[in-house]
Amino acid sequence: MSTASINGCCLTSSSSTTTTSSFSARRRPTLRPSVVASLNSSPSPPTLIQDRPVFAAPIPLLTPREEMGNKSYDEAIEALKKLLSEKGELKAEAAARVDQITAELNTASADGKPSDSSVERLKEGFVYFKKEKYEKNPALYGELAKGQSPKYMIVACSDSRVCPSHVLDMQPGEAFVVRNVANMVPPYDQIKYAGIGSAIEYAVLHLKVQEIVVIGHSACGGIKGLMSFPFDGNNSTDFIEDWVKIGIPAKTKVLAEHGGEPLGVQCTHCEKEAVNVSLGNLLSYPFVRDGLVKKTLGIKGGYYDFVKGSFELWSLQFQLSSSLSVKDVATILHWKLY
Ligand SMILES: [Zn+2]
Repeated sequence: MSTASINGCCLTSSSSTTTTSSFSARRRPTLRPSVVASLNSSPSPPTLIQDRPVFAAPIPLLTPREEMGNKSYDEAIEALKKLLSEKGELKAEAAARVDQITAELNTASADGKPSDSSVERLKEGFVYFKKEKYEKNPALYGELAKGQSPKYMIVACSDSRVCPSHVLDMQPGEAFVVRNVANMVPPYDQIKYAGIGSAIEYAVLHLKVQEIVVIGHSACGGIKGLMSFPFDGNNSTDFIEDWVKIGIPAKTKVLAEHGGEPLGVQCTHCEKEAVNVSLGNLLSYPFVRDGLVKKTLGIKGGYYDFVKGSFELWSLQFQLSSSLSVKDVATILHWKLY
């Protein structure tokens, strides 16, 4: 029997009306009061809404659940225990629910309110940033308030371990960043890839960045997908296969040169080759080509290995055919930065 059916019993049990409403209220996301708050034009907020921001913000973003004291939990547990004694067949399910509620109680904060660690983490993070960085660097943030003039555009993977600002110790205002699965730059396509296309256009034509750096990384899940998916027309994902297949030329090259090696080794090669494919694709954007020809723009490949703690950077020389498609690519500079 599912949890839903337990709740169903609660709903039909005359003795558990309070319990049911407590469960419903507990499950209601904390966002709901803020939605109500934004719709409510009354000058004094309803009792469930606290007109104090969770953290520095002009209006309440989230509100604590004032009515969610331990009492509700206690009532819920008592009702479940009662139900348990009345309906023996629900024993396992009800016991599991009791355990769940007890666990929630154990995570309640000192003031008795259930803690919301995800919100707390954001709050603490912003408070730290505001105090230790924003307020201690008025010159920097004052300047950034007027506008941005980043030197770099960086294309990096969405992987939570490879934040380029963190890895390269960049300050706000230094890099215009695009992150996506497997740090791909697709070829110029106004319909399919307007998102990254608009970012490149904005960075090159309006921000006038000096360098576009595409950074791959070790143990990239997107590249592993690229190397593993059969691409036989029977997609098993809604988006991922269609996205990472941008790197198929890299996969083809790796299979030709390292076909007999283990998948992990192939992936490492492909993590770098896919960066080169992205650099080649950058040349399909006319404003990128124009910047390269005029030498107002450079493009570089990078690779961050978070297992070894190393970073490589390289520059490619492109030989363009008359139609400005890439004819030949060669590494002209390679720095092992660490
Ligand atoms: Zn990745």
